Amino acid sequence: MKRIAILGSTGSIGIQALEVVRSHPEQLEVICLTANSNAELLMEQAKTFNPDCVVIADEEKYTIVRDALAQYPIKVYAGSDALAQVVEQSNIDMVLAAIVGYAGLPSTFNALKSGKAVALANKETLVVAGDLIIKTARENNAPIIPVDSEHSAIFQCLVGEYGPVEKIYLTASGGPFLNHTQNQLRLVTKDDALKHPSWVMGEKITIDCASMMNKGFEVIEAKWLFDLKPEQIEVLVHPQSIVHSMVQLKDGSIKAQLGRTDMKLPIRYAFSFPERWESGDKRLSFDDMRLLEFRQPDTEKFPCLALAYEAMNKGGNVPCILNAANEIAVEAFLNNRLVFTMLPKVLAATMEKHHFIANPTFDDYLNTNKEARRIATEIIRAMA
Ligand code: NAD
Ligand code: MG
Repeated sequence: MKRIAILGSTGSIGIQALEVVRSHPEQLEVICLTANSNAELLMEQAKTFNPDCVVIADEEKYTIVRDALAQYPIKVYAGSDALAQVVEQSNIDMVLAAIVGYAGLPSTFNALKSGKAVALANKETLVVAGDLIIKTARENNAPIIPVDSEHSAIFQCLVGEYGPVEKIYLTASGGPFLNHTQNQLRLVTKDDALKHPSWVMGEKITIDCASMMNKGFEVIEAKWLFDLKPEQIEVLVHPQSIVHSMVQLKDGSIKAQLGRTDMKLPIRYAFSFPERWESGDKRLSFDDMRLLEFRQPDTEKFPCLALAYEAMNKGGNVPCILNAANEIAVEAFLNNRLVFTMLPKVLAATMEKHHFIANPTFDDYLNTNKEARRIATEIIRAMA
């Protein structure tokens, strides 16, 4: 039995992770579930999966959850401190980090600090503080198993390999605006951006896919996970989303992992590694595969990807600034306060304005996140 905590159980990844748990009752036991503010779903999940404890980050919802679960042997905690601390419990073997954004950093960091294996969906954690996260994982012998489909693909390709990687190819669907002209891009709405051609995900990552910021974040995520130099990471637009990513080895051989667009596969693999567990999920059909296209991304049309490379090359607190500005800009776009094509402009201007810290501490990241959010908010206000 692997005893797991699912952080962000009410989100897209969290819900799919619970489907995986449901299909592997002999192998997985849920110890802890957490949510930001969706008390209703958290309570329903708790009644079904009977965890040892639940955490609701929004403290105003505490009494609702506590009262609803009063008849059950389930401890109820509230607030962000409880969320960060709960992962340290000794009855947890693995933590699925599936909170979205910077908010996932403290809990992921603490899980690794207490030596827990982490199944990592929350890529923003590595974007913001990749150096600290990887160092903490190494020092505490805490494995990080990627859940992000591209990184899971690379991880799977590397099983059984000893030599160094020559380069990796991160595939990108290109999102809903792949074939839009600049003029069309200026007019896109929130509803257009929320229609992803191949994946169903939470709102924030769906917007990141439309702007290709997501792929930029994944480049930074790959750098940290696989210890790569920027020039070893190449993004390829692959609209069919069948090849989830590829690894090129020193003899020129290229390995790829293929699959349907179903996050349950990488989630299950993160839970089962180094084993594989059976799944009754639909299989990939070669009829879907008559055409597999690969082409270079257009960084002029999608400047967010270039900004990610710039942030990665500068290092220090710059990726943290980029992430914070992006969280603010995406929120503004979702609330109809920012047009789509202004999104990268907000990010670039925030990166420009914020001061540089070459070797940030945990507190430096905390302060950078706060200050960059303030700067981005101001820039958006000035644009309006
Ligand atoms: P989502 O918005 O559907 O769910 C987010 C979860 O985090 C929810 O349970 C929410 O309650 C919780 N949460 C949000 N803010 C919080 C806060 N301040 N404090 C505590 N909890 C909070 O997001 P998602 O699509 O499931 O994505 C989760 C993470 O996984 C993201 O980092 C995303 O980039 C990554 N990811 C998602 C997918 C996907 O297919 N959805 C694929 C690859 C990677
Ligand atoms: Mg991905």
